[in-house]
Amino acid sequence: MTAILIDGRAVAADLRASIATRIAAAGITPVLAVVLVGDDPASAVYVRSKDRAAHGVGMTARTIRLPASTAQPELMALVRSLNDDPEVDGILVQLPLPVGLDSTAVINAIDPAKDVDGLTPTNAGLLASGQPGLVPCTPLGSMKLLQASGTNLRGARAVVLGRSVLVGKPIAALLTAADATVTLAHSRTRDLAAECRRADVLVAAVGRPELVRADWIAPGAVVIDVGINRLADGRLVGDVATAECAEIASAITPVPGGVGPMTIACLLENTFTAAIRRRAR
Ligand code: NAP
Repeated sequence: MTAILIDGRAVAADLRASIATRIAAAGITPVLAVVLVGDDPASAVYVRSKDRAAHGVGMTARTIRLPASTAQPELMALVRSLNDDPEVDGILVQLPLPVGLDSTAVINAIDPAKDVDGLTPTNAGLLASGQPGLVPCTPLGSMKLLQASGTNLRGARAVVLGRSVLVGKPIAALLTAADATVTLAHSRTRDLAAECRRADVLVAAVGRPELVRADWIAPGAVVIDVGINRLADGRLVGDVATAECAEIASAITPVPGGVGPMTIACLLENTFTAAIRRRAR
């Protein structure tokens, strides 16, 4: 392997330590409310790790568990009550919601000032128009990894694979704001491999195990693998064939241990930001 492995666990640990220091210095205890509807085991694991991570940096995590049978109006009323609760700084509704619940309506009901997942149309609009808001956690974490790896984005050709609202689009907006020249590719893109080969910085967020192969990578490219895919044999792999691409790239994120740990750390960062901004108002 020739590429440097970008260690997301180490960068996330540094970020959490910095958040803990800033919280202590500000003399506040930010409150993160996490809403978990239903009993999806993966969601329950995520929520527990968010809870632990929040406590670890000196925040209070308030987890609200509702049964899968919860009706839409009940969930909307809960979100509104968290919006109005002066103690709550951040609101996160764990997705996906059980079938039958309208997640768009629920997300849209969150007060943008407390939208620590950065998913409301207001925060998406602020990001698109280059104004300060709350940025989705995985894209924010991916940018912090690029920063930690010392990648110069100004004038760099960046290719983002995947155009989801959660990951691809916000990453493309952040890379554009950082002065990269961005191509946003997706399932209808002609000759994906050729697009990727032009990239100085390649971000893969498609949810297709090891789609990106070594001959898609430009020599010396920096590769951020957002994908998390569970194979039939239980192994966790990204959207990039890491071992073979690491022979060509100059730096690459592993899966697991790359973007994943950054997502929760950035949720805490957003909660701290929301807490400080709310107190300054
Ligand atoms: P998504 O909503 O399913 O979007 C996938 C995107 O990839 C779509 O834009 C789709 O194109 C595109 N795509 C799918 N197959 C493709 C192909 N063969 N060639 C080119 N483009 C293709 O997924 P997501 O929520 O963005 O998540 C993407 C991956 O990131 C998943 O593996 C997910 O588990 C992972 N993820 C990781 C974290 C983390 O913390 N590390 C957080 C969130 C997500 P169309 O728009 O044309 O359909």
